[in-house]
Amino acid sequence: MSLVVIGSVAFDGIETPFGKVDKIIGGSGTYISFSSSYFTKSVKLVGVVGDDFPQEKIDLLNRHGVSTEGLQIKAGQKSFFWQGKYHLDLNSRDTLVTELNVLADFDPIIPESYQDCEYLILGNLTPVIQQTVINRLRKRPKLIVMDTMNFWMEVAMDDLRQTLKMVDVLSVNDEEARQLSGEYSLVKAAKKIHEMGPKYLIIKKGEHGALLFHNNEIFFAPALPLEDVFDPTGAGDTFAGGFIGYLAKTGDISFENMKTALIYGSAMASICVTKFGPDALESLTQDQINERIQEFVDLVQFEISLP
Ligand code: AMP
Repeated sequence: MSLVVIGSVAFDGIETPFGKVDKIIGGSGTYISFSSSYFTKSVKLVGVVGDDFPQEKIDLLNRHGVSTEGLQIKAGQKSFFWQGKYHLDLNSRDTLVTELNVLADFDPIIPESYQDCEYLILGNLTPVIQQTVINRLRKRPKLIVMDTMNFWMEVAMDDLRQTLKMVDVLSVNDEEARQLSGEYSLVKAAKKIHEMGPKYLIIKKGEHGALLFHNNEIFFAPALPLEDVFDPTGAGDTFAGGFIGYLAKTGDISFENMKTALIYGSAMASICVTKFGPDALESLTQDQINERIQEFVDLVQFEISLP
């Protein structure tokens, strides 16, 4: 079933304790598209790049079945650029540079062929642009998932509140959930965030897994303990792409199925972090994904007999 993805399509400069790259492709829309393409062959990307963005990467997205009809290419302009440096523990990072470039006056275009989409994922972008995409779809999709970051809570909280009222699932990390709700307890934070709009809330906790909240129900998906994490950039977007990709593939948006989707999202994220940028997502096989899923099953499956 068709899935529309909106997000940044970007160049990133990344420094981790394992290496440094000055300029590779990245962006929330890129990671979500690659990740979800392993689940549904009807991924449709909305975004904007400058004419400095490599055509071969757009071709690669197309070979993954991702439609780029909604990806605008602005002649004579530069693509969005983000630069970050990770701390030793890889769980936190500093943003060193954010150059909006083409994103500064991005006006999303929704091609006619995107209009019938049943699933929509709003990757990290200004909340106003996220709202614009919802408003420009003639029919409300069956499920709208939204990602955001602390930056928008600081500079556009009113707009963010409006967008939150329009979505079904919010995906944020633990720090962002606390900032958004003003609550330290994640259970209290989830209650407050439900009141802001999203019926489902995903709280990502990096190497400590992810929680899914729905009313009074909670589900926990672990993160796979990995020997080497090279670059966590895009892990959250890759997670979200696997999550919604699996839901779009199965067409089932029940809480039960979301639990499985959370495991698929976690598996995709655990693959993403093993290489710099989206490299690890570019040529995966179904067997590799299945093997990773099996590792998650083995990690948490146990038998217990109660006295
Ligand atoms: P994540 O590691 O999942 O938070 O995603 C990292 C990606 O987000 C990078 O590839 C960046 O290009 C992109 N990014 C960083 N800041 C922003 C922003 N303010 N708006 C849109 N995309 C961003």
